[in-house]
Amino acid sequence: MAKQPMLKFVSVDRDMPEKRDAEIRNKDFDEIYAEFADAKAAEQSSRCSQCGVPYCQNHCPLHNNIPDWLRMTATGRIEEAYQISQATNTFPEICGRICPQDRLCEGNCVIEQSGHGTVTIGAVEKYITDTAWEKGWVKPITPSAERKESVGIIGAGPGGLAAADRLRRAGVQVTVYDRYDRAGGLLTYGIPGFKLEKDIVMRRNAQLEAGGVTFKLNCEVGKDISFEDIRKAHDAVIIATGVYKTRDLQGPGSGARGIERAIDYLTASNRQDLGDTVPEIEDGTLNAEGKRVIVVGGGDTAMDCVRTAIRQGATSVKCLYRRDRANMPGSQREVQNAEEEGVVFEWLSAPKGFQGNPVSGVLVQKMRLGPPDASGRQSPEVIEGADDFEPADLVIKALGFEPEDLPALWGQPDLQVTGWGTVKMAQGSTVATEMDGVYAVGDIVRGASLVVWAIKDGRDCADTILDRLNAVNEIAAE
Ligand code: FAD
Ligand code: SF4
Ligand code: SF4
Repeated sequence: MAKQPMLKFVSVDRDMPEKRDAEIRNKDFDEIYAEFADAKAAEQSSRCSQCGVPYCQNHCPLHNNIPDWLRMTATGRIEEAYQISQATNTFPEICGRICPQDRLCEGNCVIEQSGHGTVTIGAVEKYITDTAWEKGWVKPITPSAERKESVGIIGAGPGGLAAADRLRRAGVQVTVYDRYDRAGGLLTYGIPGFKLEKDIVMRRNAQLEAGGVTFKLNCEVGKDISFEDIRKAHDAVIIATGVYKTRDLQGPGSGARGIERAIDYLTASNRQDLGDTVPEIEDGTLNAEGKRVIVVGGGDTAMDCVRTAIRQGATSVKCLYRRDRANMPGSQREVQNAEEEGVVFEWLSAPKGFQGNPVSGVLVQKMRLGPPDASGRQSPEVIEGADDFEPADLVIKALGFEPEDLPALWGQPDLQVTGWGTVKMAQGSTVATEMDGVYAVGDIVRGASLVVWAIKDGRDCADTILDRLNAVNEIAAE
């Protein structure tokens, strides 16, 4: 009788791919986790209990068919695992690397709840698609027939690119406009290489181009081309511009030199990682080397900044966050990685003011957590008289992002936005705006969110547009 390949969670312990030693990895921008060896991927996949109601799948925004690709991997059928995985996810190797799995698929794995440690879903997903690239199974798009309709996509981040991929597969003519010189959005210029190496993103960009997607880069809508001209040139338009307005620090001295925005800091570092010469790194403005660095914030962006500063050779790196560890928005896994690499966290601490210009230090206010607010979250309260001083040569503000004012920037008063400035969806739709033929996806709709949600939106939006184009064609044919 054939041996049961699955349900090994009782006899096989959870194991992640090897993590590089902190003392070695904190000096470069390479990813910190190695790849699973084939046998290890199969072994870890075999821990899955093949739940009848897979909570992992329910909690994956893309509803990936996780139990099936785990079973295929456990039995060595990697090409089939890849086909199943890519059917629901446009960029599985990217999600496998950077999804906060502890809050999504893995956080809901039932064997974790029985005390056995979750199946390492993200690491297996990464393994499957990395193997597919290596074996040449990931092919450029070749639509079975070309269509005459075209779609213009503003923004080449994961939301825009997921839509581009799906529309192009259906034969639609796709043009992606982006103000940056490279596609990828925050995958390219926000998220550092130690989480997602740049060539992983670049090979996807190249593949889309090889599949017939036209990229118009260095092209800022509202400046180099008008929104109206894009609307006129295409049958439908998708707004996928993300959110880039930095929430600012308050307090005396907050305008001093040496207090920098996280997005500028990370973009400069990512550019250097991509091989560009970056004047702001060369002249020290956006370079932590030899400096005492303070990063303000407790989300993923703050975690990426502190770990970048360590790698640039800062003499010390501290993170100030006004709540405690349990109540921070960033991933606990990333906090642990940062601590291992030498970052010091100052919980329940917020900046009150800044000394010097250029900055030489931060006046730190100590906080405590008060009663829960309407959302159920405990609000931080100031502890009077408990201020402290932290010397600093570089302060990075990583307090989150808000949408830019698109209606004003693009001269489009009819483009409706919510009270938060995100693009407002038409009644009953998650992707269409009130403007005819204009859609929106990703962070510009949700506010700062996750790559996996942007991919889901992009895919859903492409399907909605295809339905509409097909309906128009049917009416024309009648
Ligand atoms: P973006 O990726 O922001 O792409 C938008 C694109 O639109 C950009 O390329 C921009 O240049 C372009 N654009 C904007 N305005 C214009 C214009 N007027 N004309 C032309 N082009 C324009 N998520 C995770 O899931 N895991 C993580 O680990 C993670 N880490 C993160 C770390 C950082 C530092 C940041 C900032 C975010 C992180 N996120 C993470 C969130 C994630 O990156 C975003 O949710 C996701 O990239 C949103 O995708 P998007 O396509 O909506 O927008
Ligand atoms: Fe988990 Fe993200 Fe992959 Fe879904 S896409 S299975 S949430 S890692
Ligand atoms: Fe397998 Fe865990 Fe998903 Fe169940 S919840 S199918 S054990 S990965």
